[in-house]
Amino acid sequence: MTTVGILGGGQLARMMALAGAPLGLRFLVMDNVADACAGQFAPMVVGDYRDEAALAEFASRVDVATFDFENVPAESARWLTDRVDVFPNPRALATAQDRLAEKTRFRELGIPVPPFAPVDSLDGLRSAVEAIGTPCILKTRRLGYDGKGQFRIRETGDIDAAWTALGAQADKVGLILEGFVHFDRELSVVAVRARDGEFRAWPLTENWHVDGVLSASLAPAAVDPRTHERAMDYARRLAESLDYVGVFALELFARGDELLANELAPRVHNSGHWTIEGSETSQFQNHLRAVLGLPLGDTRMVGQACMLNWIGKMPAAAAVLAEPGGHWHDYGKQPREGRKVGHATLRADSAKELADALSRVGAALGRQAQVAPVIARLR
Ligand code: AMP
Repeated sequence: MTTVGILGGGQLARMMALAGAPLGLRFLVMDNVADACAGQFAPMVVGDYRDEAALAEFASRVDVATFDFENVPAESARWLTDRVDVFPNPRALATAQDRLAEKTRFRELGIPVPPFAPVDSLDGLRSAVEAIGTPCILKTRRLGYDGKGQFRIRETGDIDAAWTALGAQADKVGLILEGFVHFDRELSVVAVRARDGEFRAWPLTENWHVDGVLSASLAPAAVDPRTHERAMDYARRLAESLDYVGVFALELFARGDELLANELAPRVHNSGHWTIEGSETSQFQNHLRAVLGLPLGDTRMVGQACMLNWIGKMPAAAAVLAEPGGHWHDYGKQPREGRKVGHATLRADSAKELADALSRVGAALGRQAQVAPVIARLR
């Protein structure tokens, strides 16, 4: 009996446990809160990620360890590697945890990025804004997610307000200034790399964000084959350079013919949730296969798919359940503003059928604004 340990007990760990059940796997989840939603499906060790006693107990009970949460301290991941196999490796995790290291790595690999500069003082911010130009975005280097820890600088007059908002973070987590990209689309590559280096990716996904949080994903993204190939090539290069094992997502901005890398998520990713019903093998199962050294599953799509995120609280399930290609995912979390509490995936054999299903669901749930950009893309 193999036990997979997962650091972080959110919905990603929960969906991993569900995907691992048919493989006969057992799971142990470590989280710093006892009511983490993966705990409804797997035993837990509750403890801080820096607590060596808790980490030691976790390590002693698992055969391999992985993450649902990328901000597990890299030192804790390194500490674990002396006791158990850990995938992805702590070096990959550390790179993805720091926006400066990540963007520097992209650039070294010849993957285009928006202009960026580290910032450690108000004067430094002024010179960085001068060099990069406006509009631009000041971000924390570490611990930011879903648009948190970001301040948009529209003109030089916003510099003081940006420093008031984030300046205190400069000494704690560091800051980075990035040029604002007027993108046409946001895309992501969700890919998997096996222990023996085999690389596979799902078709490119198009994503829509609201207030920095993912709202909808559509796969396959309607892009020309050359753009598709280039995105796959960037993801492959990145994974090889980090000796990455497992699933990851590379978030990209598309502007005209250009693709610019935004960030690397060193784990299964929200923009890959559609793979559960929309592809031959889900991102969750392929992640487990990769970390366990099993053959990777086919990433081919089954029809077309759109995922809608439920943020704050769950809507009524009936409209989605009534759709022939409708799939419901309730993460079993308490409602809270801004929190990802569930998602739905709609699957269909044609763009028209998918657009019609989205239109019915959007109208039934009063979520026309959420489905509108996806429908516009499909029609
Ligand atoms: P992040 O946390 O970096 O993934 O940012 C969350 C969202 O904010 C992205 O998905 C974009 O919609 C937006 N965003 C972040 N960085 C930029 C940028 N440099 N230019 C334009 N939009 C951005």
